[in-house]
Amino acid sequence: MRPFTYSRPASADDAIAAMRGESEARFLAGGTNLVDLMKMGVEQPARLVDITRLPLSDIQEHEGGVRIGAMVRNSDAANHPLIRERYPVLSQALLSGASPQLRNMASMGGNLMQRTRCFYFYDPSYSECNKRLPGSGCSALTGYNRIHAILGASERCIATNPSDMSVALAALDAVVQVKGPRGERSIPILEFHRLPGETPQRDTNLRPGELITAIDLAPLPWARQSHYLKVRDRNSYAFALVSVAAIVNVDGSGTIRQARIALGGVAHKPWRIPQAEHLLVGQKAGDKAYHSAADALLRGAKPHRNNAFKVELARRSIVRALTTAAAVA
Ligand code: SF4
Repeated sequence: MRPFTYSRPASADDAIAAMRGESEARFLAGGTNLVDLMKMGVEQPARLVDITRLPLSDIQEHEGGVRIGAMVRNSDAANHPLIRERYPVLSQALLSGASPQLRNMASMGGNLMQRTRCFYFYDPSYSECNKRLPGSGCSALTGYNRIHAILGASERCIATNPSDMSVALAALDAVVQVKGPRGERSIPILEFHRLPGETPQRDTNLRPGELITAIDLAPLPWARQSHYLKVRDRNSYAFALVSVAAIVNVDGSGTIRQARIALGGVAHKPWRIPQAEHLLVGQKAGDKAYHSAADALLRGAKPHRNNAFKVELARRSIVRALTTAAAVA
């Protein structure tokens, strides 16, 4: 492992200052992904800035919604009464991720930053990986690509984002609060992660030295009618092949008033197409409407040699997640 310096500042300002002048510095939160990557030689930071002592561990009501501090542990957020009651889809998504031990360590900010689980990215013995070594190629394009993207990929990278939490946050239109050398700013969740394009080495739109401080959820009373469906190879401690965060507002006559759908396991970022949601509004809740939304969400899907099954799996998962969400009393 490459030698690195370590510091543990007590304030966000000190943490941001500690990043200055070192392009290969990383914030260290729960470490559940970064430390693994360092052990494998995929991440080789020269400086680690430990942010675990920063006062960013509160969950509180905020402007009618909820603000979750970036250092809140995944398990604490999943089990918090405000999250369970107002945003059950987020609680379900968090509880579907990793294992209890990892959820007890992993932070909300770190979850947003976790990197793809592409096999070739994790194994430096593969010399072709544009995300790990820009310009080197993509082993997954011609290799085993069962877990890879079917939407929004590029010829440079077909990796997927592994976070369940981010899929639920996408459906909830969460806003990520960050602070950096140039001050504070708010990033809508759908603008936080990037598609690979020509620069797959960049997972997010964070600027150098920016620290995630909180995640804001706006008030959304109908978010109680929601469901997170995760389809995976085994029932725990596995990443999604396909996942769906569905929120649907159905009135007493069975008509859909509003809907939100986000997909995971299919793209380099949570996948959400507003047109698919517009198609549902005013329709009778049921398979016919749900299939039309699925068609819109999956339009343009481009499977690879080993993952064509994901298209039909995603279609069925969308219909099932919407059906389950609409049935929530
Ligand atoms: Fe690397 Fe992306 Fe290709 Fe995986 S899919 S090998 S992460 S470039």
